[in-house]
Amino acid sequence: MKLVLATRNPGKIREIKALLKGLPVEILTLEDLPGLSLPPEDGKTFRENALKKARAVARATGLWALSDDSGLEVDHLRGRPGIYSARYAGEGSTDEENNRKLLEELEGVPWDERKARYRCVIALVDPKGRSFTFEGECEGVIAESPKGRGGFGYDPLFFLPEKGKTMAELEPEEKNRISHRGKALRQFVLWLKEYLKRP
Ligand code: IMP
Repeated sequence: MKLVLATRNPGKIREIKALLKGLPVEILTLEDLPGLSLPPEDGKTFRENALKKARAVARATGLWALSDDSGLEVDHLRGRPGIYSARYAGEGSTDEENNRKLLEELEGVPWDERKARYRCVIALVDPKGRSFTFEGECEGVIAESPKGRGGFGYDPLFFLPEKGKTMAELEPEEKNRISHRGKALRQFVLWLKEYLKRP
């Protein structure tokens, strides 16, 4: 079975590949399929955006497609940046710019009001257009300064109280064990194992 990852985010690709290692699945990325483009992320939820990307790639390739739509919800910001996490500081913004904006918006906000969560929806679409989604969440607190060099995106600011570290200070395997993406993908893996057993 060939599975195309419908994302251009290198951080997501790295984590998804690590989590799907060992499965009887050949993983392709958009780099392997030149000329393919992803649709605009104009849905109102992570789920809508994830489905949109996976549907477009499954339709264009005739293969299985898997997408990830994810982001950060900060309680003090009433759930922002949410689906706009990748472009929080503006279209085409870098992780550093997004992190800087987040720190600015939370300046002076006390520790107990800095709770946040990562959310991830994995969408899978088969060559016949049937779709399935898997979800995961991970709770944390937005730190007052960045720490760590691992992961991507908001990880240097995403502090995990039970670990006493930011997500960017974790080894990749440790991040995958507890992350929103890891949780969603492990559900997908269970589903796939059952699916592959079918006659
Ligand atoms: P998407 O491509 O619209 O799903 O954007 C996802 C954005 O959410 C990323 O660009 C990051 O800013 C943020 N994000 C999602 N997952 C993670 C993660 O595991 N660590 C850090 N940031 C993340």
